Amino acid sequence: MGFAMATRNPYPKEETASERWARFKPIVTGDDYLESLRKRPIDLFLFGELITNPVDHPIIRPSMDAMKATYDLAIEDPELATAESPLIGKRVNRFLHIVESPHDLVMKNRMQRRLGQMTGTCFQRCAGHDAFSMLHSITYDIDRKHGTSYHQRFIDFMKLAQTNNVILGAGMTDPKGDRSKRPSEQADPDLFMHVVRRTKDGLYVRGAKAHMTGGFNSHWICVMPTMNLTEADKDYAVVGLVPADAAGLTFIYGRKSCDTRAMEEGDIDKGNAKYGGQEALVIFDDVFIPREHVLMDGEYKFAQEMVSRFTSYHRASYVCKTGLGDVLTGAAATIAEYNGVEDASHIKDKLVEMTHLNETIYSSAIASSHEAKPQASGIYMNDPMLANVCKQNVTRFPYELSRLAQDIAGGLVATLPSQKDFENEVIGPLLEKYLKGRSNVPVEHRARLLRLIENMTLGCNAVGYLTESMHGAGSPQAQRIQILRAMEVEKKKSFAKQLAGVISNMPGEIEK
Ligand code: SF4
Repeated sequence: MGFAMATRNPYPKEETASERWARFKPIVTGDDYLESLRKRPIDLFLFGELITNPVDHPIIRPSMDAMKATYDLAIEDPELATAESPLIGKRVNRFLHIVESPHDLVMKNRMQRRLGQMTGTCFQRCAGHDAFSMLHSITYDIDRKHGTSYHQRFIDFMKLAQTNNVILGAGMTDPKGDRSKRPSEQADPDLFMHVVRRTKDGLYVRGAKAHMTGGFNSHWICVMPTMNLTEADKDYAVVGLVPADAAGLTFIYGRKSCDTRAMEEGDIDKGNAKYGGQEALVIFDDVFIPREHVLMDGEYKFAQEMVSRFTSYHRASYVCKTGLGDVLTGAAATIAEYNGVEDASHIKDKLVEMTHLNETIYSSAIASSHEAKPQASGIYMNDPMLANVCKQNVTRFPYELSRLAQDIAGGLVATLPSQKDFENEVIGPLLEKYLKGRSNVPVEHRARLLRLIENMTLGCNAVGYLTESMHGAGSPQAQRIQILRAMEVEKKKSFAKQLAGVISNMPGEIEK
């Protein structure tokens, strides 16, 4: 038995793969994309209410518009945001392109930085791209070991995904329950996603995926394990492709600092009125996955390698934050001008420091892509060490960039009166008089820049710029473990000993 969740979903639970695909209409423009999200019978809850029109909901829509930017950019700058797909012999959105070379990964990073500059937030589409990059090689390797046919299923799926220009989201993080216990040891087995039933046509999964980025804004969700697994966890070793509007799914929207400002009139206090991120807890109540969309079922020994390959891609994808860093550095430089302090040497130095930190993130990401190596399936994968260094930088540097931006902005970034106060006929003129900075800059411009800095460093989009930087694609310790595993310290010791004239087997030295 599944959970007792309400559902208004009319689709049959045991939909076949072709029935599922028949529901998708090919998308060309960003407006087509928004249209594709309308009238889907999905149970989505926000503030304890079932949301019937999420596309026009003021809190949800900015997240859809951020995703829409990935379609818009493909039309505005096809060189950057599309690529020639050998699978279907056409140009496709770069977020659907299988990476065939280090150059493809470099171009992806450049596109991610550009999208960060355009939206100032998480545009939510990279985890899906990184999931199918990983799936290309892992399904190939599982087939070679077990004689399964996952790779061909994956290729068939990708051809349809490219033809229909749909978005694939990724569901990796399980709620995890008691962290000291393995999935099969949990008091509640549903704290990690697992197979509850198999039939000749497919299988049923139950559990939840936490903090899912842009899952509701996607058309498909790829569910996959979150950690290494043992034989006892075999039913947790499942990878499957599920439509975001499949029967049995329930989305519970994560709330953010200052999120209800989106429901207020006026756009100034929102800081970034156009774009936002999206995270949700997604419940899978015995969701059916037809056989054609199952890409792993029980091959638990591949789980750790799968997670490791996914993170090699995804930790370099955090180059996205350099686009946000560009916006924040620009906001800090602008507010310095509005305050009349742009020529102060310490302001210039702080802007240099912000740029240095931001470009350090970029350099580790782009180096990781340049150093990508081919996998047996023919796909390229980011250099794992440099990808982990990139993400480790991202867990720290945006916080320092934020501190510097707030330093430059001054205390008003946190004490500015509301837009309604500025519009009030009694106090509005007083605010205009006393909150004036440089005489030729309208007070409203100053307020807008302060609100943008607030939005990114402690408001709604601080989730995307800061907390997501900390915990997305694995919390800081996860990268340090990977760096520890790959840092080849013995090799480095031998370099040092050789130069220092230390002979390894010297009496009294203990060999490791
Ligand atoms: Fe992409 Fe960055 Fe958002 Fe992850 S955090 S989905 S890498 S924009």
